[in-house]
Amino acid sequence: MHVIKDVYIGGRWLPATSDQSITVHSPSTEEPVARVPDASPGDVDAAVAAARRAFDRGPWPTMAPAERAKVMEALLEQLSARADEVTRLIITEVGTPVLLARVAQVDNALDVLRYYAELAATMRTETPRAGRYSPALVRGEPVGTVAAIVPWNVPLFLTMMKLAPALAAGCTMVLKTAAETPLNGNLLAEAADEAGLPPGVLNVLTAGPATSEYLVTHPGIDKVAFTGSTAVGKRVAGLAAAQLKRVTLELGGKSAAIVLDDVDLATAMPRLLGVTMSLSGQFCTAQSRVLVPRDRYDEAVDRFAAAASGLRVGDPFDPATFIGPLISRRQRDRVLDYIEIGRGEGAVVVTGGGRPAGVDRGWFVAPTVFRDVTRDMRIAQEEIFGPVVAFIPYGDTDEAVDIANDSAFGLHGSVWTNDIARGVEIARGVRTGTYSVNGLSLDPAAPFGGVKSSGLGREMGPEGLAAYLEPKTITVPAGTDLPGLAQNRG
Ligand code: NAD
Repeated sequence: MHVIKDVYIGGRWLPATSDQSITVHSPSTEEPVARVPDASPGDVDAAVAAARRAFDRGPWPTMAPAERAKVMEALLEQLSARADEVTRLIITEVGTPVLLARVAQVDNALDVLRYYAELAATMRTETPRAGRYSPALVRGEPVGTVAAIVPWNVPLFLTMMKLAPALAAGCTMVLKTAAETPLNGNLLAEAADEAGLPPGVLNVLTAGPATSEYLVTHPGIDKVAFTGSTAVGKRVAGLAAAQLKRVTLELGGKSAAIVLDDVDLATAMPRLLGVTMSLSGQFCTAQSRVLVPRDRYDEAVDRFAAAASGLRVGDPFDPATFIGPLISRRQRDRVLDYIEIGRGEGAVVVTGGGRPAGVDRGWFVAPTVFRDVTRDMRIAQEEIFGPVVAFIPYGDTDEAVDIANDSAFGLHGSVWTNDIARGVEIARGVRTGTYSVNGLSLDPAAPFGGVKSSGLGREMGPEGLAAYLEPKTITVPAGTDLPGLAQNRG
C-alpha cells in the first residue's frame, strides 16, 4: 500500500498540513491500495500562493510560447517514459481493463499534450487590426491562475485537456484530483518536476468537496476548469459567478446512438458495445440510449444483448476482460438502483440486470440491456454512469432526432449508417456539442464540450486554448503605425 504524506506545491513535495487522509481502494478487489493526504484549506492557501507567485512574478506567462513548448515537450518525454507505470496505477485505482487502459487513459492524454505543445510552438500572441477609428493590437494574454477539478473516470486525459492548453497559454494551475484516483496526479507532478516546469506552475492536491469549494472560491484563483457531474458543476458555476471567475464546465451526458435502417445489424450491434459499455459505461460520452427503427427493433436488441452477454467481466489486469468494476460501492449501488427503477417503470431487462454471477468481490455490475424503454422513463433521461443501455424504437428519422433531442443533456451523439452524407445531415439536427458518424471520436484538434446541462465552453482544439486566453486590445492614435509585433512572445 502506498502511503503518501506530501503534496506537490511550488515545485517541492511538502508535508501536508492536514491531519486527514483519504484511503484509495482497488474497485476490483475492494482492498485499500493507498493513502494520501486530504488537503486542508491551509494546503490550498499554499498551493494557490505558489500558483499566484509563478503567474505574477513569472517567468512562465511572459516566456515566448515556443519556449513553453520546449518544456511541454520535456513533460511529454517524462510522461511517456512513465506510461507503463501510470497505466498500471490507473488500472489499479480506476479499474479500467488493461485491454483499454493504455490507449483510453494514457495515450490519449499524451496526444493532447503533444497537440498543444505543437500549437504553442507556432502560436502568435499578437495580431494587428486596422480598426474603424485607429489601429489596434489584439493580444492573447493568459487568463491567470487556474483551479482544475477532475473526476475519477478518465483522470489523466481529463487533466491534460486542462493542463496542456493552460501551459501553452502561460497560465499556472492548482490541480485538485478526485479522491478515488489521486495516484496518477502525483505521477504527473513527478514528471512535471523532472521536465523542469518552473516551481508553482503546476501544484497538485487531493481533497473532498468542502476543501474543493474553498479552492473554487479562493480569491487567488482566476479561472475554474471543472469536469464532473452536472449537479456539482452548477454549484461550481454559482460559486465562480459570484466572483466573476472564468469557468469551463464539462458535465454529464445521456447521448443517443441513432441506428439508421441501412446498416447491417449483425456487424453494427457488436460495434456499438465499445461506445456504450467501455469503461463499464463510466464515460461522459457513453451512448447510453440506442435508437433503432421500430421494424428492426427486436433483431437489434437481440443481437446487441447477445454480444453484451458475451463480454468478459472481471479482473481488469486480465487481458480478456472488457467490463471492469464500477469505481466505488456507492456507484455500484446507484447503478443497481437505476436497474430497479427501470424495471419499476416497465422496461424489460434482456440481459444482465444485477451483479455478475460468480464474481464475489469488487464493485461489478453485469452488462445490462433494457428493451421496451420509452423516451420519458428515468432510465432514458438520467445519467446512470454504468454498463446499462436503453433501447428505444423510432418510426422515421425525424422521430429519431426528436427523441435524441428530448434530453436535458447535449454532450455527444452518434449515427450509424452506410451513407455518410445522410449521417452528417442527421448530426446537424441533434443539439449537442459533439457528434460522430459511425463511431465515437474525440480529436485533440477539434473542440469538445456540451450544450444544455452538459456544460459551458469547450476543451481541445484552438477553442480549448482560447479558453485560457484573455483578449486585450491596445490602440494607438489614428495615423500612427503599430510598433513591431511581438511574434511568438508572451
Ligand atoms: P463529481 O461531480 O461528484 O466530482 C467531480 C470532481 O468535483 C471531483 O474531483 C470531486 O472531488 C469534486 N467536487 C465534488 N463536490 C465538489 C464541490 N462542491 N465543489 C468543488 N468540487 C467538488 O463527479 P464524479 O462522480 O467524480 O464524475 C462523474 C461525472 O463526471 C459524471 O456526471 C460524468 O458525466 C462527468 N464527466 C464529464 C465529462 C465531460 O467531459 N463532459 C468527462 C468525464 C466525466
